[in-house]
Amino acid sequence: MTMTASDATASADRLAAIRQRIADAAREAGRAAQEVTLVAVSKTFDAEAIVPLIDAGQRVFGENRVQEAAAKWPALKARYADIELHLIGPLQTNKLGDALQLFDVFHTLDREKLALALVKARDKGAALPRLFVQVNTGDEPQKAGLAPTDTDAFLARCRDEWRLDVEGLMCIPPADEEPALHFALLEKLARRNGLAKLSMGMSGDFETAIALGATHVRVGSALFGARG
Ligand SMILES: *Cc1c(COP(=O)(O)O)cnc(C)c1O
Repeated sequence: MTMTASDATASADRLAAIRQRIADAAREAGRAAQEVTLVAVSKTFDAEAIVPLIDAGQRVFGENRVQEAAAKWPALKARYADIELHLIGPLQTNKLGDALQLFDVFHTLDREKLALALVKARDKGAALPRLFVQVNTGDEPQKAGLAPTDTDAFLARCRDEWRLDVEGLMCIPPADEEPALHFALLEKLARRNGLAKLSMGMSGDFETAIALGATHVRVGSALFGARG
């Protein structure tokens, strides 16, 4: 795909529109727009589609696959020093080394094995990214994340046993359910564990998520267009 000048204008316009909707949703919830970070989910889109958003001022991006991110982000990070990259997809421990090179924030700490791999990397001198624990709020068998009933205990082990500094929780609600119920559950789990950050809300429901306390909304198709 070759970007034209008008494609670039279109992405800058889409970015401005999403930022406005975030600001409106925050204001309606009695919150400041700056409390909500827009994570622009660029999965499946190449550098040509991403650069116009960077040029329009967007600096925080999300990717769900380590390999795909490794193919396109090092060059972009070299060109734009202040990019912040968020991993929003499941992480296999054999890709942890690459993920630590690339990502500033992991949204998908979801199991003991990954926690132990992070501890091991830290013991060898690696700087760890900021961490969110993923919660499978719908208890869906095919989906990653802690069961809600296991979340308190996992967070306690992160804190007391592994000394992992978790800053928030993340969820992806079931496609066919009212997302507000899942956002409210995630907010409750975060609050009772003293966590300040909530990664929740995508293109179709980020305003609902902001009303329920989201600090990070992960928006892909509303910014980049439909994925092929
Ligand atoms: C793809 C993806 C998104 C963005 O979804 P859109 O509906 O395109 O906004 C958000 N979060 C995760 C975990 C994703 O994989």
